[in-house]
Amino acid sequence: MPLTSVADRLRESMWRSANDKRLKRLRRVVDAMPATPPADLTALDMGSDTSLAGFLAAVGEAAGRELGLPPFPNQYQAAAALLRGASIELATGEGKTLVGAMAAAGWALQGRHVHVLTANDYLAARDADWMGPLYRGFGLTCGAVQAGQDLPERQRAYGADVTYSSVAEAGFDLLRDRLATHPNRRTGARREVVLVDEADAVLLDEARVPLVLAADAEPHRDEHAVALAAYVRGLEAGEDYVVAPDRRTVNLTDAGLRRVEADHPGRDLFGTDSEFLVSLNLALHAHAVLERDIDYLVADGRVWLVSGSRGRVDRLQRWPDGLQLAVEAKEALGSAPGLQVLDQLVVAELVGGYEQLVGMSATMRAADEELESLYGVQTVVVPSHLPCRRDDQPTRLYATSDQRDAAVAALVGEASGDGRPVLVATQSVRESERIAGLLRAVGLDCVLLNARNATEEAAIISEAGSAGRITVSTQMAGRGTDVVLSKDAAAAGGLLVVGVGRFASARLDGQLRGRAGRQGDPGESVFLASLEDRLVTDNDPDHPQPASVDGDGQVEENRANRRVLGVIDHAQRVSDGDQRSLRWLSWRYGELLRVQRAHLAGVRDTCLEGPAALERLAGHAGEEIAELGERVGQDALEAAARLALVAAIDATWSAHLGHAAELREGIHLRALAREDPLSEFEKEMGAAYQGLAEQILDDAVATLLDAPVVDGRLDLESLETRIPSATWAYTVTDNELGNDLTRIGRSLRRLMSKD
Ligand code: ADP
Repeated sequence: MPLTSVADRLRESMWRSANDKRLKRLRRVVDAMPATPPADLTALDMGSDTSLAGFLAAVGEAAGRELGLPPFPNQYQAAAALLRGASIELATGEGKTLVGAMAAAGWALQGRHVHVLTANDYLAARDADWMGPLYRGFGLTCGAVQAGQDLPERQRAYGADVTYSSVAEAGFDLLRDRLATHPNRRTGARREVVLVDEADAVLLDEARVPLVLAADAEPHRDEHAVALAAYVRGLEAGEDYVVAPDRRTVNLTDAGLRRVEADHPGRDLFGTDSEFLVSLNLALHAHAVLERDIDYLVADGRVWLVSGSRGRVDRLQRWPDGLQLAVEAKEALGSAPGLQVLDQLVVAELVGGYEQLVGMSATMRAADEELESLYGVQTVVVPSHLPCRRDDQPTRLYATSDQRDAAVAALVGEASGDGRPVLVATQSVRESERIAGLLRAVGLDCVLLNARNATEEAAIISEAGSAGRITVSTQMAGRGTDVVLSKDAAAAGGLLVVGVGRFASARLDGQLRGRAGRQGDPGESVFLASLEDRLVTDNDPDHPQPASVDGDGQVEENRANRRVLGVIDHAQRVSDGDQRSLRWLSWRYGELLRVQRAHLAGVRDTCLEGPAALERLAGHAGEEIAELGERVGQDALEAAARLALVAAIDATWSAHLGHAAELREGIHLRALAREDPLSEFEKEMGAAYQGLAEQILDDAVATLLDAPVVDGRLDLESLETRIPSATWAYTVTDNELGNDLTRIGRSLRRLMSKD
C-alpha cells in the first residue's frame, strides 16, 4: 500500500470501530493532521513525495501526543531516509529509538512486517514498551522476543506488526524455524523488513560470531589433547614460556622450544608436525592464560566461556573447537558429553533472509564502503539537531603502559575533582579490572561496569553522568543507553571520555567518543595510548623509538618524533585492514555453504506437509515402500516418510557442516603452503554437496523401512526420536583465538623463513 492511502486507511479503520476509545483519540490525531506538513517537513526535500510528508506529519503528531516526544527536524529527516531504503548515521543521543519506530510504523502501515534488531534482550523489551503507544495510536501492534520465551509467546511476538528482538534471538529463531518438524512448530516470523540498530557493530564487528544450535552427542575423549594438557603442566612459567603482561597471550621461549623438541624426538615441529605445535600452543594457552571462573565456567560437565569483551554470561559461548578441546582436557573433562552441531548461521545469513535491510548507528559512515559491498546498504548521514560541542582531543602517546596508566589516573582524578563525570573505557574485562584497581589505589572511587546483566548495565550507564562520577567500562558495555548529564555535571564541562589505548579501528574509537557531547551537551574525549599497547605490538612491532619524552613519559610533539607519533594511526590502519580482510574471507568461506543451506532448506520445506516427502522416497525405492504402504495405509506412510526424510536431511546437513569445519581448519594450516585454499575449499564442499541428495534418500528410505510396525500401525513416535532436537543454543567467540591463530601462523612463518 502506498503511503498516500495511509491516512485513508486510518480513517476507514476508525469508522469501523468508532466506539473504541483509543481510536477516538487517534481520530483527533488524524483530524489534527495539518493539510500541509509542518515547517520542519517542508524544509525536507520531499520532491513529489507528498505521501511520505503526509505520513511523517501524522507520525510526528502521534509521537508528540502518545509519547511526549514531538520529533526534532532531523528525526523526520532520518525517518524519511529509512523509509526510502537508506541506512542512517545519526549521533548518539539524537533519538534513534523514536526514528526507528517512526519508520517501522510507516512500513507496517504499508502492510509489511518489521523486525527491529537491538543489541540485547533488555533493549528489545524496553524499546517495544516505550514505543508501544505510538504503534497502538496507529492501530498497529508490537511485540518483543525475549530469551526463555516458549513457542506460543514467540509466535505472539512475531505475529505483531512490529517485532523487537535481539540479534541473537532473531538468529536462533531462524535456526529453530529451519529445524522445525512441522509448520506449526515455527515462530511464524515473516522476514520482510529488518531494521538493525547499531548496524556497524552488528554487521561488521560481530559478523563472524556464529550462532549455533546443537544436540547432545556421545562423550568424546581426545587422548592427544589430554596428553598435551598433562605435558604443558610440567613446563616452567618464566623459563619455558612467558605470559604477556596483559595476560592475553603466552609464548614459548627459545629454551621452551628446545625443551619441547627434546621431549618429542622424531617430531618435525617446524615442518610436517607444525600442527602439533599449534595444538601445544592451544594447550599452553588453556593452561597459562585462561582461568577457571574468570575466563570460563564449568557447568553441566561442560566448559562455557565468559565473554571477554562483555564480561557476562548472558548467553552460552564456546571457543572454536581446538581451544575448547584444550580447555576441556585441562579440566579433565576429556569424557565430557559432546555436542553435535545441528545448524549454525552468521548475521549475514540472518539479514540476507529479509526483503529489505536498513541500519542505524552513530558510526556508519566510517564503514560505508564495506557495508555497501557486503550488504548492499547505503548510508545517509543525518546532522544532529543541535551542533556538536564535544571536544575530541588528539591522542596522547606514552612510551610505556605504566606511564600511560599513571597519566590516566592523574587525568581522571583532576576531571572528577572538578566535578566532571568521567567514563574510562578499556578493551577487555581484565583491563577494566586492572584500571579500576589502579584508580582505587590512588583514592579515586569508581564504578566498574563489568555487569552481569544488561539491565544493571543500562542503569549504571544512565547514572554515569552525575557530577564527579567515575565509571570504568569495557567498550561493549551498556550499548544503546544514554549518559544523561546532571545540571552540575554539565556546568563543570560535561562528560569526559577517556580511552585507555586506541581500539582496533577508528570506527570503534568513534563509537566511544560518541558517549560524550550528546544533544549539544558539553563534553570531551581523549585517548591515552602507549607504545606497549597490543595494538602497536601486534600491528607495528618494528616501530621507531621516541627521540624524546617529557617528565611523564609522554612522547613530545616535535619534528624528531614525527614518525613515532604516527605509529598508533598506522597500527590502527593495519589492524583495521586485517579485520576487514578477515571479514571478507569468512564471508567468502561462508558463501557457498549459505547457498547450499538455502537450497536444502527449500527442499526440506516442501517435505513438511502433504505427500511430497513420500513421492521423493517412492521415486527412490518404489516397490518396497508400496509394500509397506499396503500394510500401514497411505496416511501413516506419508507421515512416516516426512519424518524419515526430515531426519535424514538434518543429520546429513549436520555432518556436512562438520566436514566443512574440519576442512577449513585443515586448510587454515595448509594455507601456509598452498596458493588458494578458498577455491580448494569450495571445490571440495561443492563436490560433497553433490553427494548429499543420494545419501539423504538412502538414509531416509532405510529409516522408513526400518520403522517398527506394531499391529499394522507404524510407530511414528520412534521415528520422531530419530530427529535430534536442539538442546543447546550458543555463540562461538572469535576474538581471542582468531588473533592467536593468526599470531601462531605468523610466528610459524617467521620460524620457517629463518631456515
Ligand atoms: P540514541 O539511540 O540515538 O542514542 P535514544 O533513542 O536512546 O538515542 O534517545 C536518547 C534520548 O533522547 C532519550 O532520553 C529520549 O527520550 C530523548 N529523545 C529522543 N527523541 C526526542 C524528542 N523528539 N524530544 C525529546 N526528547 C527526545
